[in-house]
Amino acid sequence: MLVPERVIDTRRGEVLRDRAVVVEGDRIAGLIGAADVPEGPRRIDLAGLTLLPGLSDAHAHLVGLEDDGQGYAGLVTRSGAQEALAGVRNARTTLAAGFTTVRDIGTFRAFVDVALRDAIEAGWVEGPRMLCAGAYVTCPGGGGDITGLAPDVDAVVPRELRFGVASGVDQVRATVRQILRYGADFIKVIATGAVLTSGTNPGLPEFTEAELRAAVEECELAGTFVAAHAHGAEGIKRAVRAGVRSIEHGSLMDDEAIELMAERGTYLVADMFDGDWILEQGPRLGYADEVIRKTVLTNDAQREGFRRCVKAGVRIAFGTDAGVYPHGMNARNLAYHVRYGQTPMEAIRAATFVNAELFGWSDRIGAVETGLLADLIAVPGDPSEDVTLLEDVPFVMKGGVVVKDERPKEDRP
Ligand SMILES: [Zn+2]
Repeated sequence: MLVPERVIDTRRGEVLRDRAVVVEGDRIAGLIGAADVPEGPRRIDLAGLTLLPGLSDAHAHLVGLEDDGQGYAGLVTRSGAQEALAGVRNARTTLAAGFTTVRDIGTFRAFVDVALRDAIEAGWVEGPRMLCAGAYVTCPGGGGDITGLAPDVDAVVPRELRFGVASGVDQVRATVRQILRYGADFIKVIATGAVLTSGTNPGLPEFTEAELRAAVEECELAGTFVAAHAHGAEGIKRAVRAGVRSIEHGSLMDDEAIELMAERGTYLVADMFDGDWILEQGPRLGYADEVIRKTVLTNDAQREGFRRCVKAGVRIAFGTDAGVYPHGMNARNLAYHVRYGQTPMEAIRAATFVNAELFGWSDRIGAVETGLLADLIAVPGDPSEDVTLLEDVPFVMKGGVVVKDERPKEDRP
């Protein structure tokens, strides 16, 4: 039994007082009056703390993207085994930061994310629950490909580093089917150029609407969805019309794109903290001038677009591009949601309840409610007044097991 000062009701956006949360096995068994909780060894006192659902990140890269500014060099100087083990470290760090679920949204080295997900599920290593993309579905030379190589080197890049490269409706269809068959939970398509991929232009579309629709149709057959990386307005609109579930980044949107997203119920996942990270740390990390230039191009525009999406009633989810910055700092993005138009409670809902809807996991996570998984965190103070309190989470429970308890000693029985 957890007895906090406050509980955040993420469904209604309310702060509840005098409630205790009963945990049985890996689930929440109910909420009862705090006064009704008996003393005893099964009582965890969280005096002064606010309890809320474990946070989730809809856009993380636990495998493969490292904040080293070295671009593709890492792909040829690290083995798949090394990437997997770095993923183990990243998973542990992410969970300790209070993120009990991540939607892992692409790795160049295909299916290492799936292996990590399965290892966490089997209890071999500690980490958040994961939904995995398996690979990037991208056009040849696109934002999810390995670009800029000499033609003779280009010809011998191992298939696992280019598993999702596809061109034309039929190839996209076949590739999506195969990625799902190898264990991905959903599909990530690269609908426009990317900031971090050399030679690609974030403003320009890279798939036709028909190609994007083929990916969506295959996912629907498999009972899942497409997340679309899209910066430029035309790429966003093609993806939304094709029926993708979420737009990732959404940096250079126009009014028509925003209207379409609001109308279709497409989620926006806007990583805003990492742009500042690249601009601040880029010189130290040795990022190429091209990356810095494209970050400047997209950074402020993305924030303005986010603000307009909030006003227009677009569904706002929460994702951070973890891996571009060091894992564990995911909650830093919450303050950006608040700075650009959401209330603190709306930002918390984005990172819990709304993300659960986006993942199709509302029956598992995202709220402190009977029957859901006991993925719970607690922080001192009231994060519905100050979301930065979530940047340092001392108490984390996943599936009914306390995985972190760094409350000050005097708070403990
Ligand atoms: Zn990303």
